Formats: sequence, structure tokens, C-alpha cells
Amino acid sequence: MPIRDILILGNPQLWQSSEAVVDVQSHNTQELIRDLSETLASFRANNGFGRAIAAPQIGAQQRVIYTNVRGGIALINPIISEASEEMFELWDDCFSLPNLMVRVKRHVAITVDYTDEHGAPQQLKLQNDLSELLQHEIDHLDGILATDRAIDKRSFAMRSEIGGVDARCREVIKESLASSI
Ligand SMILES: [Zn+2]
Repeated sequence: MPIRDILILGNPQLWQSSEAVVDVQSHNTQELIRDLSETLASFRANNGFGRAIAAPQIGAQQRVIYTNVRGGIALINPIISEASEEMFELWDDCFSLPNLMVRVKRHVAITVDYTDEHGAPQQLKLQNDLSELLQHEIDHLDGILATDRAIDKRSFAMRSEIGGVDARCREVIKESLASSI
């Protein structure tokens, strides 16, 4: 059963911290990476959006993220080793918060150190949309949801009210440009 159910807001497992992966090459870890990849592809096919997924979202308390950007990358035991002081605001969304968007602040740029699916150490330097994406996913590994990052009590909106993911992308781009001036 490679395509797994996605846990949604209210499931207490989403607020639990995940364990570091000890053996990247183990059958369990490799199977988890496959399941994440196939679950993400299925979600994207059904919903038209989705760039990354974290293991706790399918009920696995392991520090593994899978993203479909740059041809597909599995990030095992990722940590943010550097983060810009500069922040930006955006409407964040999440498979685990269906139709709910949350206004959050994220670092404009981060460096992520992680282990790849072959067990090799890797590093990514990310900005803007990819930076906020990985901050969101790494939060999942620490049991932190976008709702926990809400800027204030009015930082919540239904997707239909604010135009969904297109509005979100436009806003990110606009703010990224503004911050680079
Ligand atoms: Zn999420």
C-alpha cells in the first residue's frame, strides 16, 4: 500500500516530534521514501498542487521529507544550518489543513544540511518559495504546524476566499522582489 492516508489537523500525531533516521539504507527507510513520493504524486494528481510531504503526515514519526522539486529529492535528518535575518510573510497551505490557509513569517533564505537516500551528506541553499517550503516541512518533523506559526488571531483564511495557491504564489513573488530592493 504505497499511497498512504494523510493525517489532518486534530490528529495528535501531527504535534509529535519525529525520530532521527539511523539506517538510511534499511528496508523501512527506503520503503518510507517510496511511500512519500507516491503519496505526494497522488495528492498532486488529485488536487493540482503539492510540492513536498513530511513523514509525520503519513503517520511515520521519522525525520524524512520528500519534495518533487528539482526532479525529486528525499531529505533525511534535515537541519537548518543557516537562516537569513530577513523574513517575509505569506499565506501557507498544507495537505494536513485541507482548504485552510495560514499567514506565517518565514526566513527569506536558508541553508539545509541533510542526508540523501543513498546515505551521502548534502547541502541545499534555498531562497523564497523553496526556502519557505523546506521551513514548513522541517517544522512537521518537530511537530509544528502552520497553525502554530500564525502571525495573529486573524491569520486564517479559507482557500476559496483568498484565491488559493495562485494568490499565494503571486504574493510570495511580490514580497521576494520587494525584499531584494
Ligand atoms: Zn504541511
